[in-house]
Amino acid sequence: MLTGDLVVRSRRVVTGDGERPAAVVVRDGRITAVEDYHRADGVDVGDCALLPGLVDTHVHVNEPGRTEWEGFATATRAAAAGGVTTIIDMPLNSVPPTVDVPSLRVKQSAAAGKCHVDVGFWGGAVPGNAGRLADLHAAGVFGFKAFTIDSGVPEFPPLDDTQLSEAMTAVGALFVVHAEDAALVTAPERARSFAEFVASRPAAAEVNAIARAIAVARRTGARLHILHLAAGDALPMIEAAQRDGLPVTAETCPHYLTLDAGEVPDAATEYKCCPPIRDRTHQDALWQGLRDGVITCVVSDHSPCTPALKAGDFASAWGGIASVQLALPVVWTAARARGFTLADVVRWQARNPADLVGLPDKGRIEVGAAADLVAFDPEATFTVDATTLHHRHPISPYHGRRLHGVVRHTWLRGVPAGQATIGRLLSRPGADLSRPGNDTSTTRP
Ligand code: ZN
Repeated sequence: MLTGDLVVRSRRVVTGDGERPAAVVVRDGRITAVEDYHRADGVDVGDCALLPGLVDTHVHVNEPGRTEWEGFATATRAAAAGGVTTIIDMPLNSVPPTVDVPSLRVKQSAAAGKCHVDVGFWGGAVPGNAGRLADLHAAGVFGFKAFTIDSGVPEFPPLDDTQLSEAMTAVGALFVVHAEDAALVTAPERARSFAEFVASRPAAAEVNAIARAIAVARRTGARLHILHLAAGDALPMIEAAQRDGLPVTAETCPHYLTLDAGEVPDAATEYKCCPPIRDRTHQDALWQGLRDGVITCVVSDHSPCTPALKAGDFASAWGGIASVQLALPVVWTAARARGFTLADVVRWQARNPADLVGLPDKGRIEVGAAADLVAFDPEATFTVDATTLHHRHPISPYHGRRLHGVVRHTWLRGVPAGQATIGRLLSRPGADLSRPGNDTSTTRP
């Protein structure tokens, strides 16, 4: 019976206050109490830590339209296996892109009944759709993604500063921006070495585009979130905007925090993503940005494609790293080596992303929250075998790496996740669910 009633006991329950022995009591899928560890009943996960389910606000599922790249069934199965219980799907690479209400409905129909974890949706801001953003926001998307540079797919063009300003003025919403300045990016015909590829997309391109996006946000008063920050050089500027009181936040990704551009083998296109993985100086700065709270979220930017498109050299291959299933152990392995705690990792990968998109009952173990829980063995190690991952294609730059931290069990609303398609389609709290067709909260298999 999938009742969502449960007691889970752990010596290391990670709450907002840190770690402590406790018993988490669940009724009807919600946490109703956090009690003494020594109560007699319940599932005892012992020395496994009990974490809130991760919230990954940056996932490209690509369905419908490019389902051969990935899909709701495979992406959410991988998420559940990786301790991720909520994903927010990016508006592009699927066809149609999620740029108006009808395209959101198409995507929701494609996802319905296939999801192992909860799934929400970003909308897209593209040239010409500013007039449709308010309706799309009311229909339940969590905010709008925009590019300042070619997105890689023709049906999702970038915005210039004027168009970004128009979009930000058209609707009071969260804008999440892929910030690289096209004027500073070159498109080499061939790039066999990773160094050539990195040189074609320099840190300065990120810095310039972020400066421009912040300037537009400053003029319009919009809520701005910088996606997948790779350039440590941009941190002082983001920090300055935050000090000025602007609502500007930033995220980075597991690959920028853990992989080193100097160690990428020639033609190893599984490492290609945009902006590129950079060197240790940038990596150290990103960790400092997390330590200082300038960067608040670590999300996967899970973005797979077919093996054929991932082949070739660094110029021709699709840019994207599929890591929703590995984000937790990848980040934890590096975080523990740098002296961070599980509570830090949970803040970056669960609570803060939930807060970013306005899901106050996700990403935390506290009374009233959804009972999305993960039994995580932080001391266990494993070697990544890409062929055993659940996303559609067995391609990963982490293949063969030894990582700390094994996800033993994932619950979604108190029910074991990964076995049945129990995920729900989420709408942004505050969406106008009285409008016809807007209430998807009851969409279930
Ligand atoms: Zn992305």
